[in-house]
Formats: sequence, C-alpha cells, structure tokens
Amino acid sequence: MLEIKDLHKSFGNLEVIKGIDLEIDKGNIVVIIGPSGSGKSTVLRCMNLLEQPTSGDIVFEGQSIMENKKNIDKIRENIGMVFQNFNLFPNKSIIENITLAPMKVKGISKAEAEKKAEELLTRVGLIEKKDSFPNQLSGGQQQRIAIARALAMEPDMMLFDEPTSALDPEMVKEVLDVIKELADEGMTMAIVTHEMGFAKEVADRVIFVDGGKIVEDGSPDEVFNNPKSERAKDFFAKIL
Ligand code: ADP
Ligand code: MG
Repeated sequence: MLEIKDLHKSFGNLEVIKGIDLEIDKGNIVVIIGPSGSGKSTVLRCMNLLEQPTSGDIVFEGQSIMENKKNIDKIRENIGMVFQNFNLFPNKSIIENITLAPMKVKGISKAEAEKKAEELLTRVGLIEKKDSFPNQLSGGQQQRIAIARALAMEPDMMLFDEPTSALDPEMVKEVLDVIKELADEGMTMAIVTHEMGFAKEVADRVIFVDGGKIVEDGSPDEVFNNPKSERAKDFFAKIL
C-alpha cells in the first residue's frame, strides 16, 4: 500500500532522516518506536506530505506521490492522521469538526456527512457529545473525536503520532481500545507510540528508529525480546 524508498529529510543543514526504507502492506500495522528527536514524527509527516522529503520516493497505492499536485490531494484524502494534541477546530462543534472535510473535500451533502458522522460518533461512544465543543470534552474524548474525524474521510490508511502521549493515564485505554478495534477491522496503520504493551498486542511489525535511521525492524517478539542493537537494548532497559 505504501512504500518509502531511501527517504532523506533535512531542516536547513540538519539532516534528521538519513535514508529510511519501509514498505507497509495492506492491513498491516507497523509500530514505530525510538527515542525523542530520532525522527519518528518526521517520517510519519513525510508519509502524507505534511513534510516535503528532501530526497527519496514515496509510492502510495502504486503511484509516486512526489510527482504532482493531484497525487498530493489523493494522499491527503486517503491517509488519515491523528496527532498527539488532537488538533480539533476549537470554534466548531463536534459534529462540525467531523463533517467539515467530507463536505469540503469530497463534496458530499450535509445530510449525508451528518449521517456518517453520527455513525462514527456512536462507534467511538460519543454520540451524546455531537453538539458540544472540543473544550467541553476530556482529552481522551477529544482524541476519540479526532479519530472519528479522520475516519469520516474513509481513508485507506491511518497514521497515529503518539495518540496517547498528551492524555492523563486513566484516558489512555479508551483511546487505545478504539485503535485496537480499527486494527481488528483490518485498517492499515503506522503508529508512533511508547505504549509497549499495546505495541506488542497490535503490531505486525515494529520499527525502532534512532538518529534518523531504522536500527531494528521485525516482529514485536524479535524487536522487544531480542533486540540486536545496543541502542534499542538500552532504550528498552530504560522504559520497560
Ligand atoms: P521524534 O518524533 O522522534 O521525537 P522529530 O521527527 O519530531 O522526532 O524530530 C527529529 C529532529 O528534527 C529533531 O532534532 C527536531 O528538533 C528536528 N525537527 C523536527 N521538525 C523540525 C522543523 N520543522 N524545523 C527544524 N527542525 C525540526
Ligand atoms: Mg514526535
């Protein structure tokens, strides 16, 4: 579904991604872990061109997305993204947050967009919040809305950048449960997270990134229980 080839990204003369190759097959769940500043968010943001790669290629559903504007629109529509800080529109109601992009980008009617939004709100357990505003919701609730909003575009793939890092501990599970449900339904996903238990449970594959390079790539068992690099061993010793 998505193939990244020899990805490099620099900010000014600071090279933060130093040649990453990664293939994500349909239905696969790839968890990306690694120390702070190692380039995890940048890789994820390059996948849907929120950041423009400095060099390399990204192929989505058989087409390079680096070539023209049309492909950028396609990728933004087809790859949903969920951020650490939810990024909901503060002055729009919950239902407006969810219906805005499908109406604007996909041109579907308000009635249809609302019907779909209500289904998604029911699914994430927040239908009673449809007329509330983001600041009336807890962090966990806001993140579930952010997931519903991304799903409203009917993406082929989802990217999650530390979706639970900004949450109070008691809200982590409700968000991870929604992501697990998506996993069970076969959604293709790349997830940056420090939740190792969750990673072991849902990941088909775990990538450990350090210094802008992939230093471990394997099944959760291989990477967590038998890391090859000192860097990964050291990291797990500190966080597990
Ligand atoms: P991670 O998500 O693993 O913590 P990031 O991908 O956010 O790491 O950042 C990798 C490196 O790139 C860091 O050194 C960070 O300071 C730098 N960086 C990220 N975004 C920018 C930017 N927009 N401008 C300059 N430097 C950036
Ligand atoms: Mg990050």
